[in-house]
Amino acid sequence: MLDKRDFYINGKWSKPSKKNDFEVINPSNEEPFATISLGHEEDTNAAVKAAKNAFVKWKEASKEERIELLEKLLKIYKKKFNEMSNAISMEMGAPIDWSSSAQTTSGQSHLEDFILRLKNFNFEEHFDSKSNNYICYEPIGVCGLITPWNWPINQIALKVVPALATGCTMILKPSEIAPISAMLFAEMIDEAGFPSGVFNLLNGDGAGVGTQLSSHPDIDLISFTGSTRAGKLISKNAADTIKKVCLELGGKGGNIVFADSYPNAIRDGIRNVMSNSGQSCDAPTRMLVEKSIYERAIKEAAEEANLINVDLASKKGSHIGPVVSKMQYDKIINLIESGIKEGATLAAGGPDLPNNLNKGYFIKPTIFTNVRNDMEIAKKEIFGPVLSIIPFETEDEAIKITNNTEYGLGNYLQTEDKEKAHRVAKKLRSGCVYINGNAADPGTPFGGYRQSGNGREGGVWGLEEYLEVKTITGWK
Ligand code: NAD
Repeated sequence: MLDKRDFYINGKWSKPSKKNDFEVINPSNEEPFATISLGHEEDTNAAVKAAKNAFVKWKEASKEERIELLEKLLKIYKKKFNEMSNAISMEMGAPIDWSSSAQTTSGQSHLEDFILRLKNFNFEEHFDSKSNNYICYEPIGVCGLITPWNWPINQIALKVVPALATGCTMILKPSEIAPISAMLFAEMIDEAGFPSGVFNLLNGDGAGVGTQLSSHPDIDLISFTGSTRAGKLISKNAADTIKKVCLELGGKGGNIVFADSYPNAIRDGIRNVMSNSGQSCDAPTRMLVEKSIYERAIKEAAEEANLINVDLASKKGSHIGPVVSKMQYDKIINLIESGIKEGATLAAGGPDLPNNLNKGYFIKPTIFTNVRNDMEIAKKEIFGPVLSIIPFETEDEAIKITNNTEYGLGNYLQTEDKEKAHRVAKKLRSGCVYINGNAADPGTPFGGYRQSGNGREGGVWGLEEYLEVKTITGWK
C-alpha cells in the first residue's frame, strides 16, 4: 500500500492539517493500493497563501527563465515516462500499452507544444504601427486547477503547463479517484526546480477542497475539467469573487456516417468510442448512419464490438480495461438497462461481466440499435463503452439530430465528398469536428460549445486563458 498522504505546498511535501485518509482503488481488482489525504480549509488556505506570495516574484521571471525550467521538466517527464504510464494504469484502469501510447504521450506532447508556443508568443506589442497605444499580456495571478480522472495527465498538462508558462502560480487539485499521476507530476516539478510556491498540489474532494478553491477570494482563475454538474456548482461558487472560470465539461458526440464514407468508417467509429473504455469527453457515442447502409452498419458494428477484448489493465495488448470506479460502473449498467427498457435493440454487449473476468469494474463493449434521440441512452453522457446507432435519411436530418443535444464538444463525420464534409462540418455546433478519422494536431484549440464548457485549451489559445490583456496609451 502506497502512503501518499502528504501535500506539496510551498516547495515541500508536508502533512495535512488534519487526518482524513482516502483509499485509491485499482479498478481491475477493486482493491485499494494507495492512501491519500483529503484536505481541509487550513490546507487550502496554506496552499493559496504560498501561491499568492510566490506570484510576486514569479510574474517577473523572464520568458527565457520559464522556458529553461519547462525544458528541464520535459526532460524529467521523458525520464520518468514509464513510471507515469504505470501510475495512470493503476489508478484509472487504462491497459498499460494504451496508458503509455495515448495517456502518457499526451502529457509529453502538450509540454513540447506549449514550450514551442511560449517561445513564439509576444507578451508585448504595439496596437498598430500608427497608434501610440501598447498592449501587454500579463499573468492573471493565482489559479485553482481542478482535474478529472479519465485522461489525468492530459488534463493536468493542459492546465499546469500554460499556467507555468505565462507566469501564474497555482494550486492543482487532481481527481481524488486518480491522484497518483498528479503526485508524480508534482515530484517532477519539484525536481525541475521551479521556485517554491509557484506550483502546489492539494488532494481533496469536490465538496471540500474543490469548493474552497472555487470560492477563495485570493484565487483569480479557476480552470476546471469535469462533469457539467460540477461545472455549474463551480460557476455559482466563483460568482461572488468574480474570478475567471474556464470550463471543459461533458459531451455526447455525434458521428455522422454517410453512405459514401470510406470502407472502414463504421469499424473505426466503434474502436474510437470504445477506446479508454468509453471514458472520453469527446467520444463519438451517437453513431448516425444513412438509411441505405444501416443494415450493413449494424452488422459491422456488432462484429467489431465483439472483437474488442476486455481485460486487466496490467496485461499488455490492445484490449480495453475496466471503467474507473464502482460508482461509474453502477451508473453505466443502469443506463444500459434503461436502454433495454426503453426499447432499443441490444446488438452487442450488455450488462453482464465479460466471461473471462469475475471481479473488477469491467463492461463489455455495448451497441444499441434502433435508438431514438429522445431516449436516455442518446441524451445522457454515459461515459462507458456504450454506443447508440441512430438512422437518418437526409443531410439536414443528420445535422439536426447531431446538434439536438445540450452538449457541443466533439462531432465526427465520414464521407468521401469533400464539399459535403466542409458544408456539414461548418453546421455542427461543437468546438471540434473530426472529418474521416483525422486527429487534431498538437497546439490546436480544444473546448466546447453550450454545456460542454466555455474555455479553449491547447496552443496559443491555452496560453491566453491565463493572461490578462492591458492597454497602455501614450506609449510613444
Ligand atoms: P467530476 O466533475 O465528478 O470531477 C472532476 C473534478 O472536479 C474532480 O477533481 C472532483 O473532485 C472535482 N469536483 C467535483 N465536484 C466539485 C465541486 N462541486 N466543486 C469543485 N470541484 C468539484 O468529473 P469526473 O467524473 O472526474 O470526470 C468525468 C467528466 O469530465 C465527464 O463529464 C467528462 O466529459 C468530463 N471531461 C471533460 C473534458 C473536456 O475537455 N471537456 C475532458 C475530460 C473529461
